[in-house]
Amino acid sequence: MTAGERVVVAGAGVAGLTTAVVLAEAGASVHVIAEQIPGGTSLAAGAMWGPYLVEPKDKVDEWGQRSLEVFRELAEDPATGVRLTSGIEASRTAESPPDWATALPGFQPCESTEQPTGFTAGYRFTVPLIDMPTYLDYLLRRLDAAGGTVEQRRLTSLADAGPATVIVNCTGLGAKVLAPDSDLRPIRGQHVVVTNPGLTEFFSEDTGSSQDLLCIYPHGDTVVLGGTAIDSEGDLAPDDKVAASILARCAEVEPRLAEARVLEHRIGARPTRDAVRLEMERAEDGTVVVHNYGHGGAGVTLSWGCAEEVGALLSAT
Ligand SMILES: Cc1cc2nc3c(=O)[nH]c(=O)nc-3n(C[C@H](O)[C@H](O)[C@H](O)COP(=O)(O)OP(=O)(O)OC[C@H]3O[C@@H](n4cnc5c(N)ncnc54)[C@H](O)[C@@H]3O)c2cc1C
Repeated sequence: MTAGERVVVAGAGVAGLTTAVVLAEAGASVHVIAEQIPGGTSLAAGAMWGPYLVEPKDKVDEWGQRSLEVFRELAEDPATGVRLTSGIEASRTAESPPDWATALPGFQPCESTEQPTGFTAGYRFTVPLIDMPTYLDYLLRRLDAAGGTVEQRRLTSLADAGPATVIVNCTGLGAKVLAPDSDLRPIRGQHVVVTNPGLTEFFSEDTGSSQDLLCIYPHGDTVVLGGTAIDSEGDLAPDDKVAASILARCAEVEPRLAEARVLEHRIGARPTRDAVRLEMERAEDGTVVVHNYGHGGAGVTLSWGCAEEVGALLSAT
């Protein structure tokens, strides 16, 4: 990649916007094209740093660690929507802690008095929580400051994003058609956003492979409650029964939530495949295409590591 080179980034979710920021700040002339600005899946995320429903492990660890470093820096500025937050992950079946959590600051087993009734193991640690609407706005502002531009439009193909010497494909589930990629599948997730009754700590349950999740993520005045992970479902309509069940699960663990007012329902479909696709190829017309999609339940967690790897691939061309 040379300074001033025209790069089109397809997609304005967390993958596309982070990649666009990295490339624009490296001196490229970046133009983002996306149907949704910002991307709906990214808006629906909770979001906590931590790998979930994503492979391959070695690369996920590397991308995740790099992103963790960046999120720690971003947390110093409240306008980013990133907060370093202490809290508990607990299990009802004495599971060992997730390996990604043990290296986090403040990691320690909970006192049994700290665990909600019915839980047999719990761990306390401090991790970035990201308020996605605020954070995606921050990325858009940062892209603008670096000279990047944004255009709202549905693409019928990746070639439709040209002319450009480089096209970066960050279209999430849209890559099923645009790449095309039959390995991609949706994993539906639903969150309920409520008023914050005074919570400052997160809580999440290690629910293993269950499709019913339990997470409580405070973001200042609001709390994101979750959740679900329904494999191969991409319907984005709110499900009232699911929302009621999420509220009941969360209020059982944190009774103050029983009186919280529901503000919003956020639904998204995690773009999932056997492994994140991050690779470069050359289209028939000579355009360099870099794919950066398929981040499953961890697109926020991996965003900076993946974006910087796209930058490194392009620098090497
Ligand atoms: C309920 C839920 C909770 C989650 N929680 C977390 C969490 O706590 N931590 C975490 O790290 N991750 C979490 N995730 C996962 C994370 O949200 C995703 O991995 C991430 O948002 C994927 O980002 P993306 O930019 O690839 O996709 P998207 O956000 O879907 O963006 C795709 C972009 O491509 C555009 N696009 C697609 N097709 C076309 C087309 N034909 N033409 C033009 N534009 C197109 C879209 O308009 C959009 O702008 C969660 C996901 C869900 C659903």
